[in-house]
Amino acid sequence: MKNMLPPTSAQRLASLKPGERIDPEFALEIAQCAPIHSLGEAALRQRRARHSDKAYYVYNQHLNYTNICRNQCRFCAYSKRQGEAGGYTYSLDQARQLLLARIDYPIREIHIVGGLNPDLPYAYYLDLLSLCREIRPQAIIKAFTAVEVAYFADLTGRNEATVLEEMRESGLQVLPGGGAEVFSPAMRAQLCPEKISAKRWLYIHGLAHDMGIQTNCTVLFGHIETWEDRIHHLEQLRQLQDEHPGFICFIPLAYQPLNNALSAPGPTGEEYLRMIAISRLFLDNIAHIKAYWAFAGIKAAQMALWAGADDFDGTIVEEKIGHAAGADSPRGLTITELFQIIEATGFIPVQRDTYFNEIHS
Ligand code: SF4
Repeated sequence: MKNMLPPTSAQRLASLKPGERIDPEFALEIAQCAPIHSLGEAALRQRRARHSDKAYYVYNQHLNYTNICRNQCRFCAYSKRQGEAGGYTYSLDQARQLLLARIDYPIREIHIVGGLNPDLPYAYYLDLLSLCREIRPQAIIKAFTAVEVAYFADLTGRNEATVLEEMRESGLQVLPGGGAEVFSPAMRAQLCPEKISAKRWLYIHGLAHDMGIQTNCTVLFGHIETWEDRIHHLEQLRQLQDEHPGFICFIPLAYQPLNNALSAPGPTGEEYLRMIAISRLFLDNIAHIKAYWAFAGIKAAQMALWAGADDFDGTIVEEKIGHAAGADSPRGLTITELFQIIEATGFIPVQRDTYFNEIHS
């Protein structure tokens, strides 16, 4: 029950040392029972021990190349079936135009994800990477979730290592963290039965790390999953990072409730902050926790910086996936707006690249 933490556990939470590992049982207890201010304060201490008062942001551009997808994940409001109204796929020329439209801005990262579109050949994805590399030679290309990588492997009969190597040769540098959803098999069976298993998602990220390709990781929370499912998910990520290090940043994605097949309300603001805080406390081996403003909303993301998050993501322009499901945040921010939003929280805005190298220009 919230606000009913036994005194010994309250004392333990208040006296955690920087980077101290906590076990799943204690994590579950404090996530569910600690008063939010105690949980947030403990996470804030861990965040400050790592990053002082810096709050990172990135000058980035999203490229969602298609919303046509052969899967039908129940939480997804973004995807369309082949031939369905509202479906789109960017030709390489359209992708070129979108990239060139922002060529005067010093963008540091191109983030590419899309649906599993049966009409696209494998060569399209390699050409898309080459195109980004040609137009944006200085930007880091973060492209294709493990779900897409698995799809490309199945499409072509290649193994995942070959796909990753060919993608890297065409320009891919980092994998985004999407597609993890919730690792619990029971939840996955209800939420996204056609999607790759948690085991394959984790395998692809571990493989990428072993190949020297760093990645991000996510959880989609605030729908039908339990706190047990959330802690189990964090446990799987922490274990993978111990065994195959390479995660840069963890991103708790707040479920968006509109236009999809689930009838769940989405997380409250308090639940969002609890998830951010427990992520910071549990994932002692992942350096960064992201307050993803496009899904959480700007005000909740600002608060999250005080509850353990150290990164605010970026300019985006233009976010499509969360907005299809009712996100009421802007679709993008200017770099000045982003700076001012972070500065208003009392933290120090620091521009970064995808690897969190600081950019001082
Ligand atoms: S979440 Fe991804 S894989 Fe699932 S339906 Fe949407 S676009 Fe397709």
